[in-house]
Amino acid sequence: MRISKLLKENDYSISFEVFPPKPGASFDSVMECTSSLAALKPDFCSVTYGASGNTAGNTVKVVKYVQDELGMTPLAHLTCVQSSKEDIDKVLAELKDAGIVNIMALRGDLPKDIEDLKTDFKYASELIEYIKSKGDFCIGGACYPEGHPESPDKQSDLENLKRKAEAGAEFLTTQMFFDNSIFYNFMYRVRDIGIEVPIVPGIMPLTSSQQISRIKELSGANLPPTLLAMADKFRNNPEAMKQAGIVFASLQVLDLISNGIRAFHIYTMNKAEIYEGIYENVRSAIGR
Ligand code: FAD
Repeated sequence: MRISKLLKENDYSISFEVFPPKPGASFDSVMECTSSLAALKPDFCSVTYGASGNTAGNTVKVVKYVQDELGMTPLAHLTCVQSSKEDIDKVLAELKDAGIVNIMALRGDLPKDIEDLKTDFKYASELIEYIKSKGDFCIGGACYPEGHPESPDKQSDLENLKRKAEAGAEFLTTQMFFDNSIFYNFMYRVRDIGIEVPIVPGIMPLTSSQQISRIKELSGANLPPTLLAMADKFRNNPEAMKQAGIVFASLQVLDLISNGIRAFHIYTMNKAEIYEGIYENVRSAIGR
């Protein structure tokens, strides 16, 4: 099913993200995670794509498994930063042959060694336009409530986001955020600039103190004092931190529901029990 259609028609939509193995690594963790979560009937399951393109085959293999073996709607991520048109054509042909219609079109992070960069696509909006010309795909794009790290300011980032919707993105999924007021503020600005497609909040459960330190260091995301206090208190109690992370993410979802939001995408890091914990805490609120 097209994700844009289910986002419009379903009262609520809940979905999750997994990542495929690196080349040569085992598929066990992603297969186990997706197959146990299929029982909870998520609305769709997204599968990430390595920006270097070297896990392309693995992304396609996992989305096929999700669709054909588990009967879930898959969303295949696709990045363009290190790809030529021929590379993209090859993946699109494989997805089309497999009957995959939903694609999350991304630029990918710029590699450190800029000299090697292929130049067929500079921005995700160009990839979106290209995919659109290649078939009747339902295309999603990424958005950043706290602004993309490379952007000089939030307004220009928003203007660039509008280009993605104009190029044909039918829905947008957000980068992780931990303070819902940032998301609400973003939603006002998105609608104000004239972007009308559905926006799906991406929720990242922070379930270990190390993960929280890493996020703080790398992404610059705003981390609320509650989360920081929990990371500090449960530094040496991983089980308590895991529970706390699940509860914090569940509260984020419940607050979003209370404020009229109807779609949620959970970043699982291939750990089924994290999605299961959140799902259990919010299922009555979404009528399941
Ligand atoms: P773009 O939309 O191209 O934006 C990148 C930057 O360029 C922004 O600062 C933007 O403001 C600016 N820009 C855009 N258009 C223009 C223009 N015309 N002129 C000037 N500036 C412009 N990465 C992976 O490698 N694999 C994944 O599977 C993956 N999945 C993701 C899923 C989600 C929901 C999110 C939020 C991110 C994901 N990422 C993934 C990370 C993403 O690839 C990086 O954040 C990357 O740096 C930007 O990708 P983008 O598609 O948002 O790029």
